[in-house]
Amino acid sequence: MSLNEIQRPDTYILQETIARGIEAIISRLDYEKDCLPHFALYILPEPHLGHDIWDNGDMCARYTDAFVLGRQVTGITDYQREELAINNILYQCDPYQHPFMATRVLIAFVDKYLQEPGEINKKRLDNLISIIKTNMTYEKDYAYYFKPPEGWSSLKEPVFGNFLPYPTYPIGGIILALTRYLESVYSDEIDEFTGKLVKFVVDHSGIFNEDGHYFGHTHSGGVLTAAVGVTRWAFFKKDARLINMMKGAFEWTLKHCGSWGWVPDGLGEPNGSCETCSITDALHFILLMAKHNHPAYYEIAERYARNQLIENQFNNSKNIDNIWKHYNIPNNSYNEKVKKALYGNWAAWSKPNCLDNALNMVEGCCLGAGIRGCFLVWDKIVEKKDDTVYVNMSFSRNSPWVEIIGYQPYEGRMDIIVHDAEKIMARIPSWADKKDVQISINNTAVDVNYENEIYVKLTGLRKNDHVIIQYPLKCEIIPETVNGAEYLAEWRGDTVVGINPKGSIYPIFEREHMKENNTPILISNTQPYKSQVGGPVFW
Ligand SMILES: [Zn+2]
Repeated sequence: MSLNEIQRPDTYILQETIARGIEAIISRLDYEKDCLPHFALYILPEPHLGHDIWDNGDMCARYTDAFVLGRQVTGITDYQREELAINNILYQCDPYQHPFMATRVLIAFVDKYLQEPGEINKKRLDNLISIIKTNMTYEKDYAYYFKPPEGWSSLKEPVFGNFLPYPTYPIGGIILALTRYLESVYSDEIDEFTGKLVKFVVDHSGIFNEDGHYFGHTHSGGVLTAAVGVTRWAFFKKDARLINMMKGAFEWTLKHCGSWGWVPDGLGEPNGSCETCSITDALHFILLMAKHNHPAYYEIAERYARNQLIENQFNNSKNIDNIWKHYNIPNNSYNEKVKKALYGNWAAWSKPNCLDNALNMVEGCCLGAGIRGCFLVWDKIVEKKDDTVYVNMSFSRNSPWVEIIGYQPYEGRMDIIVHDAEKIMARIPSWADKKDVQISINNTAVDVNYENEIYVKLTGLRKNDHVIIQYPLKCEIIPETVNGAEYLAEWRGDTVVGINPKGSIYPIFEREHMKENNTPILISNTQPYKSQVGGPVFW
């Protein structure tokens, strides 16, 4: 088979999910106010788009982040006028209109610097860091915005329905952004400051115990964001105590999430819900642990991404219509505009089987977070370490070293087209029986050489070699208790293709089409997203 005869299945899911998200950002902009985003999309009691304190520093930061990261995945260059307008609002806004905002603005400024490491972006970033530093209170070896009451611990007295009591909410993202900045531009001063924030979080905030356990609001309380920041810092500094503590936080987090990626934003709350921002924090946490601690965790990231991350997006027009029908929302032109704007957003209060919880408002933060979550996964699908290319997840994408063509959920198959990789390690799902794994190179069967329990090793590869890895898909229905309720999840490999009980108004995992054994093949013979090979921004 020559290279231009290679078929590509309709499995570019991360790219398409991001493209829908970018369209949704555009639908949320107020063109009468220089493209100021609407934080709120209300469905009930009456559909409308609403402005809020979060429009400036939070939404403009998250949508700047979404444009920068999303473009690396999709190559979309539309909406440059809108992106520029959002950037301008961001540059002019007061990051301390609310302390939570400084966190998000800092992350966006790090993006801008990594994308274009010039003087202007560096100065903007360094100025914001100075402002953040002047807003902290300092003790001998730690720094903070505010302390919890003496002796308070999230485990003993978790607070739900309000994120303000959490000392982590304005700090978690700052630790994350500063550590990422330090990885690229080292500075003793920023190192010292970040160390003081970390010290406060782990020893004085009352959030984590020494085992890394916690309760409370994972994203809005900044708890998971802080865990991600501290984890990044811990590996950056090779700090054994912190690595151990964050491993504990990691296992604790996974224990409270659904295996398909439902993440509580009220961990320990009897009837919690899932904010997409929390899924993205959890994914970041998993991907850091996979990179630095154990590559088996890539399988968990793949499951979260294929399932709850994708399904938390309002991507089903029929079910959006169901919401309108269920609540007898009149079909006038304004309501239709809001309905159209809803498509492509991510849910802020989902349940493990539906998005029809708390439909009064769909928050704009989750839209930026959903795009970021897809990016984080896409970015770690493939990486090169030393002389070896690692294929960590089986999503379709191109890279400088190989093209990956994933066939899940239709077939247990992954193709690798070699560009520049003599040696490849490809991760095989843990549920695939080793004796059933088959590999061919240019249609000739080769021995399956497991390097360890995780990867098979392929060596002596040359440009344009076509590797096909195949294994039977494991199809099973597995009962699982998530958030105190029992569900039956129908798995097909790493994908949930059905769930029981089903949601009623906006059910998710309605994936009958994924139960087909015939893989849908793209009609065009061109390679999708060929130019999107990675960089310059990564997290
Ligand atoms: Zn959110």
